[in-house]
Amino acid sequence: MPAGLYIHIPFCQKKCGYCNFYSVTSLALIREFITALYKEMELYRRTFDSVPFDTIYLGGGSPSVLSAKQIQEILNHVRNTFDFAADSEITIEINPGDIDLLYLQDLRGLGINRINIGVQSFNENILKFLVRRHSRQAALDAVAAAKRAGFDNIGIDLIYGIPGQAMTVWMETLNAVLSFMPEHLSCYQLTIEPDTPLGKKSAEGEFVLPDNDMQYDFFMKTSEILEAAGYVHYEVSNFAKDMDRASRHNQKYWDHTPYLGLGPAAHSFQDNQRWWNHQSLERYLENLKVGTPPVEDSETLTNEQLQLETLLLGLRTKKGINLERYKERFGRDLLKEKSNVIADLDKAGLIKIENGCLRPTPAGLAVADSLSLI
Ligand code: SF4
Repeated sequence: MPAGLYIHIPFCQKKCGYCNFYSVTSLALIREFITALYKEMELYRRTFDSVPFDTIYLGGGSPSVLSAKQIQEILNHVRNTFDFAADSEITIEINPGDIDLLYLQDLRGLGINRINIGVQSFNENILKFLVRRHSRQAALDAVAAAKRAGFDNIGIDLIYGIPGQAMTVWMETLNAVLSFMPEHLSCYQLTIEPDTPLGKKSAEGEFVLPDNDMQYDFFMKTSEILEAAGYVHYEVSNFAKDMDRASRHNQKYWDHTPYLGLGPAAHSFQDNQRWWNHQSLERYLENLKVGTPPVEDSETLTNEQLQLETLLLGLRTKKGINLERYKERFGRDLLKEKSNVIADLDKAGLIKIENGCLRPTPAGLAVADSLSLI
């Protein structure tokens, strides 16, 4: 399978209240970062030599804090270093607070053919609670500008399960997004990470998250409404207008396709090896200054770990696990070995066997992480 290339741009204008992704808010080191990134590409030129890439994903952080010229330089360097399929999917994440029409037109002109907009909500109060930098209007303008700039593969990220959020408030955001019918939607349940501003507020008892029943209702209602609107609920948090619009890049993470991650905190996977970079811009720069890979640590996955991950990741997707392929790869017949558990889950309406695949139902997707324990 063609590999995927991820580039982590570790800069944001300001930290959002819930965010646990690695980024810094000083933009002073952007130039040094880009120079270091070129050196890192060089280090991996041979490692991924035999594998052509067919996706590039510029994520972060906020890639949209870089100028279009800087993004152009990075893409030129990437194209000169690695082999790419002619029809590669090239995605950039953008923050509505960073962009205007001209900027998006420049990005489109660079051959970027997929844009993922971090909207999170169309509700002003929720945007404030999440400490987003943009308003409802800026989010609406960003989506309209992406269309005007010629993007025909637009993804929008949303968050639900905000403390105090009524179902009707979430429905307003879903209705607002459906008025655009973007090609792709990611709907994430808010998770509170301890080392974030919201994590600290939560520890001090300033708010509580919706309970499990409410979270389940949010999940199921979202799935029902978006499927009724014509979307395919193809992964726990992801919906696509059709499977051609599913994120080609993200699917690589779910089926052990190789991917190379560049930039601080980026993860890579090839064969049964996984490695990840320092979660520190300073250490990343220091390592590359002396030509050392900026790798924090690595692991070699055992056959058992690969089996478990295959179950864990496969049962988070609508296509599920192909039983024949699983048998060929691991020499294990899941249907025979787990017949009782599979029959129980089937009876409970959580999984089904369809076209030789073990697949979660929508209710199964809601509890996907526990399904992998079969
Ligand atoms: S813009 Fe994205 S990466 Fe940056 S702080 Fe906010 S959520 Fe995190």
